[in-house]
Amino acid sequence: MTRRAHCLVVCAACGTQLPVLSPRAQCACGGLLEALQCPRESGRTLRDRFERRRRLGDRTVAGSGVWRFRELLLPGRGPIVTHPEGNTSLYQRDAVAGYVGLEDLTLKHEGENPTGSFKDRGMTVATTQAVRAGAAAVACASTGNTSASMAAYAAQAGLPALVFVPAGKVAAGKLAQALAYGATTLLVRGDFDTCLRLVREASDALGVALLNSINPWRLEGQKTIVWEMLQQRGWDPPDWIVLPAGALGNTSAFGKALREAHGLGLIRRVPRVASIQARGANPFYRSFRTGFEKRYRVQADTVATAIRIGDPASHDRAVRTIRETRGLVAQVSDREILEAKAVVDGAGIGCEPASAAAVAGARQLVRQGVIRKRDSVVAVLTGHLLKDPEAVMTFHGRRGHLRNPPVEIEPRLADVERIIKRRSP
Ligand SMILES: *Cc1c(COP(=O)(O)O)cnc(C)c1O
Ligand SMILES: [Zn+2]
Repeated sequence: MTRRAHCLVVCAACGTQLPVLSPRAQCACGGLLEALQCPRESGRTLRDRFERRRRLGDRTVAGSGVWRFRELLLPGRGPIVTHPEGNTSLYQRDAVAGYVGLEDLTLKHEGENPTGSFKDRGMTVATTQAVRAGAAAVACASTGNTSASMAAYAAQAGLPALVFVPAGKVAAGKLAQALAYGATTLLVRGDFDTCLRLVREASDALGVALLNSINPWRLEGQKTIVWEMLQQRGWDPPDWIVLPAGALGNTSAFGKALREAHGLGLIRRVPRVASIQARGANPFYRSFRTGFEKRYRVQADTVATAIRIGDPASHDRAVRTIRETRGLVAQVSDREILEAKAVVDGAGIGCEPASAAAVAGARQLVRQGVIRKRDSVVAVLTGHLLKDPEAVMTFHGRRGHLRNPPVEIEPRLADVERIIKRRSP
């Protein structure tokens, strides 16, 4: 990374420069803004400091797995809105690795964040930036997790929160969180893409800070998924990082994280990024198939509601990630998603449907020989099992492969014995 004297935010479309504490989440021209980091220290110095903070537990920011990397997140000083977040686990489980067809598969469980998804990593930085920039209120469109996270961080910061979600298409756990944390919640008659258009208009008209992943500070926080994982591995990068892809904020953040880590010399080699879409919500996959010559917009539908997005806002910067990492985009069916989820759940780890797309995608790529059996792979589980209890109950409500329907009985010992006998091998 080239060092700059001033940290700035720059429009990727027209080149307009804005100060770090600009209240704008998007350029006036409609283009995406990018934060330019300006580290004053060498990669070696930073890496030593990140290690020290991790070993000691960082009391100044209460041990956050995001703010541990603060020299590369949000320039300047001021209050920090942190829960804390991050410090999520890496899991290696033979049952899942065997299913995917790999010897070295690691799951990074971002569902262990405070509100149950990786969105907290972006939200702590975006909320902090909004507070420092003097925001009076915050808003977002969401398929559920962004609203749950924003509502929690807004409550902590004492800011009113305004949430736009597609009516009838938000998983129960997520909607419950937005209500419980006190956000004004609008059930919009339309899909996520409609919600995003509306909130972009509304935030401009009402002067409210927009905290969707078009907001560049969301991506800055989400970079720490990759950095924390690399740090947990002693800065030894895996061959592949596989993640589910919806609005493409995370795909973009991962590319930026790797670019900066490589530029600073924190890693010598850049892993390949594989973004996995649901077949029913696959505009990025379609575009990839044309060598990114065309951009698509689809009417999205999938059981994985967190990636039920037809017109991904961060398309352009996600393309950069795939190109720079020699990555790729794949698609998986709802059936593959639910099967992979049952395997992850059944291993005692658990995740929401969208997260399982990463596991299903890795499996498909191994079967195709794109990922080799000996490759080391990190798949990111983006959200917690309990986010979407309905998906679980529907899946296990029927008999069949990997299904585990509950059994209703009379309160009699004989009934218990009968069931146990039938189940034991
Ligand atoms: C937001 C989200 C995604 C998709 O991330 P994008 O940045 O929108 O591509 C995937 N899984 C879960 C659980 C999410 O909450
Ligand atoms: Zn612009």
